[in-house]
Amino acid sequence: MVIAQSIACSRCGGPVEFEPGELFATCKYCGFTTVIETGQPFSFEHSLLLNKYDEAGLESLVRSWMTSGFLKPADLVRKSKLLEKNLVYLPFWLVSAEAKTTYKGIFERISPPVVKEGTLDKEYNWLVLAREASDFPSREYNVPLEGKIPYDFRRIERFAKILNSEIERDEALEIARQQIEAHHRFLLQKDVDRIIDLRLELNMKQMVYLHAPAWFVKFEYKGSLFKIIVDGATGAVLKGDIPSSKFGVF
Ligand SMILES: [Zn+2]
Repeated sequence: MVIAQSIACSRCGGPVEFEPGELFATCKYCGFTTVIETGQPFSFEHSLLLNKYDEAGLESLVRSWMTSGFLKPADLVRKSKLLEKNLVYLPFWLVSAEAKTTYKGIFERISPPVVKEGTLDKEYNWLVLAREASDFPSREYNVPLEGKIPYDFRRIERFAKILNSEIERDEALEIARQQIEAHHRFLLQKDVDRIIDLRLELNMKQMVYLHAPAWFVKFEYKGSLFKIIVDGATGAVLKGDIPSSKFGVF
């Protein structure tokens, strides 16, 4: 069981609820964000992506997902029952940065092997999910940044749940750095077989705190429960449990 606590909003004085482990809390009455530990206003840019689907729209997305693709049982849409549709605004840190990797490695696919050196230059809007534990697939998630607006609590549905950040800004930057470095190591695999030296220079341009909408859907099919996560901004299915088409046969 999660026990919510609350502090007074530093702008409107209203009660702002938060859960253990959360670092910032956003007021549902005025949209202001407070740093829980100090009670001070949050001083970074806070953005929002809007949800474009109501429950009916979401249901039709789920139905079309159920009827598309080869892997799904033919009776999936007919025999499934939607049990839960929860709209959640997830917290992210969005890191806009130039990333330059200087590397040295050995190309072993030819004989004799040769030493290769070079640089990899990229620009990223790198997204770090600001929650410690979650089954949200951030790597599959292409943030539709064109739709980003300044955080506006009035645009958030009353029934939606808003999760707060559990990760400090500096920690998120460090996570972004590690993930970008891992990504560059992955990209370099086509040029180098063995990396002997690698240095990442990350030139951070901007960091924004962002809330983005995701629908967490639960459905029942032949007595078992399955989950789907749908991007509320684009309607893309980010993750979906697919019952085996042999399900229920044996
Ligand atoms: Zn407030």
